[in-house]
Amino acid sequence: MSVKTGFDLKLFRNIGIAAHIDAGKTTTTERILYYTGRIHKIGEVHEGAATMDWMEQERERGITITAAVTTANWKHTKTGVEHRINIIDTPGHVDFTIEVERSMRVLDGAIAVFDASQGVEPQSETVWRQADKYRVPRIAYANKMDKTGADLWLVVNSMKERLGAKPVVMQLPIGREDTFRGIVDVLRQKAYTYGNDLGTDIREVEIPDELKEQAAEYYEKLVEVAADYDENIMMKFLEGEKPTEEELVRAIRKGTIAMEIFPVFLGSALKNKGVQLLLDGVVDYLPSPLDIPPIRGTNDAGEVVERPADPSGPLAALAFKIMADPYVGRLTFIRVYSGTLRSGSYVQNTTKGKKERVARLLQMHANHREEVEELRAGELGAVVGLKETITGDTLVGEGDEPIVLESIEVPEPVIDL
Ligand code: GDP
Repeated sequence: MSVKTGFDLKLFRNIGIAAHIDAGKTTTTERILYYTGRIHKIGEVHEGAATMDWMEQERERGITITAAVTTANWKHTKTGVEHRINIIDTPGHVDFTIEVERSMRVLDGAIAVFDASQGVEPQSETVWRQADKYRVPRIAYANKMDKTGADLWLVVNSMKERLGAKPVVMQLPIGREDTFRGIVDVLRQKAYTYGNDLGTDIREVEIPDELKEQAAEYYEKLVEVAADYDENIMMKFLEGEKPTEEELVRAIRKGTIAMEIFPVFLGSALKNKGVQLLLDGVVDYLPSPLDIPPIRGTNDAGEVVERPADPSGPLAALAFKIMADPYVGRLTFIRVYSGTLRSGSYVQNTTKGKKERVARLLQMHANHREEVEELRAGELGAVVGLKETITGDTLVGEGDEPIVLESIEVPEPVIDL
């Protein structure tokens, strides 16, 4: 029952999915949880039924989608390397601005979901600005590519015009609206179509003839952008040589983490097209906990101290959401920034000046919860047993220097599931 995660820190992606209401955040999240394989084994029942049953169940139980953080694993389609993805809930409604900001505080990167038939909408703009404020690197997902009026260029142009952002087109659609059937991966110059309605059967196909010219054009544009972040690419580019796939990914990743560019992916979550490649995009371009600056706090002397993401360093964790759970009672969702939080240990709540006991540690998955022995720097999860801790409080180790992390100001009531 108790397990250690064993994931290298560089394989972690702590992400949020930010969207205008109705853009498809819930659907996209459901698909992500589906493809990250934490649910029914496909093939047990009729495939189409498996998704629907599961989603019905989830809706009824309301556990996962509304959990403050859900933990999933994703094996990159190309490299085969398994990554740990924590999805932090970011409310889409503008009334929850404070909640959005609070979640922004604990995530390292985000997927901005846009309705491709609408482009950037007013609320997407609000969330975008909040992500800017908290310095959250983003990739964009133009969803609903199957819908009448869906247009990738509407999303790309409105990102430029309304958000003043520099989008980088990573994919081109094959077909449009109700004939949308696949995706051209610009960087890898490969094309994919989907063999079944579940999207589990991705087929690599030839780039369709009518898209070859556009695919080549956007490859050049992408290389030009990548060259800004890698001198080697620039040299190869000037000499008419082709940079490697790894070089291009590394350079685009650098620009994305610097928040200077925003890679754009596309698909239809509802029609199960594109979500897996979007997950590859999360792994390729969004930061790991090692790629973000160390968290800062203040000690008793009022000095600013930094806590880099090191599992063997002093413990520094932040509570970001309290939920009442019908089975285990009060759940305190936390992010561990530094050190390792162990089940059964005592911690100091430095915001309150109180000692607290960590009775159990949990991680929420798509369809089950898992008890874990420890949460290391970079990880998120829920603590059972904390009595005094509220949103925004700092936890440090029993014997550690009592620092208080830069806090989230507004306290939050307990929400019943
Ligand atoms: P949220 O408010 O952002 O969480 O959006 P939902 O995921 O609840 O989706 C809003 C509506 O858009 C629902 O009716 C979905 O069925 C629909 N929807 C979501 N993704 C797609 C898509 O890719 N294509 C189409 N046509 N509809 C979609």
